[in-house]
Amino acid sequence: MNREIEMSRMNWIDYAQSIADIDPVIMVPVGAVEQHGPHLPLATDSLIPEAICRDVAGRIEALLAPTIAYGYKSVPRCGGGQHFPGTTSLDAATLIGQLKDIVRELTRHGVRKIALVVGHMENQWFVTEACDLALREIKSLGMTPPRIMTAGYWEFLSRDTIARAFGDDFPDWTLEHAGIMETSVMLHRYPDLVKMGRLRDQPPAKIPRYDMWPYDPGIVPASGILNTAIGATAAKGKLFYDEYVETLKGAIEEAFS
Ligand SMILES: [Zn+2]
Repeated sequence: MNREIEMSRMNWIDYAQSIADIDPVIMVPVGAVEQHGPHLPLATDSLIPEAICRDVAGRIEALLAPTIAYGYKSVPRCGGGQHFPGTTSLDAATLIGQLKDIVRELTRHGVRKIALVVGHMENQWFVTEACDLALREIKSLGMTPPRIMTAGYWEFLSRDTIARAFGDDFPDWTLEHAGIMETSVMLHRYPDLVKMGRLRDQPPAKIPRYDMWPYDPGIVPASGILNTAIGATAAKGKLFYDEYVETLKGAIEEAFS
């Protein structure tokens, strides 16, 4: 029988035994509920890292913890902004507090290796802050601090793969919101959730390199997509996805070796 890799499906005895037996990396996807254009589901930033983490966890000594489903607020320059219905976000302090508590609790269970795999760009620095505060609290409680890896899954593509999929037209990861990469990966992994017929061609969003608060929703394309998603295919999605799984697996092995 295959080893159970999902923490939420295990009972506490098997979970504790697994920690004692294999000293697993606990993988925690950190996502968001955020609009992803007219064609992708609100949970895109949770679904993609969750799938990647599940596939990595099955190939190394790791367990998959429940996904952090909500994330920090959507920023116009990389997520389209908060004005879209459906985008449901946490204040930074709420996200930091939730992550800090989870790291402390896993440590209390005897976990020594934690990987926080981010699916939503706006979460990044709050994940860092949560690790810093958790380590401080864990030390003050007299517990042995775990080692924690943090990473945004989108970073794990080679330049070659980006060039193969985008040619000379790769915008950058901030403008890739609901674009070719996310749409292709969703077509590969969750095809039932993608509505390609809703896509209309659009030029890349012209968003300034600075932020203004309050922001003008008019700078964001009405579709919620920051660059075109036309050209997304399941084949590109498989190319991206397989590389994400392979390179994240390698990074985790390296980080915790
Ligand atoms: Zn996204």
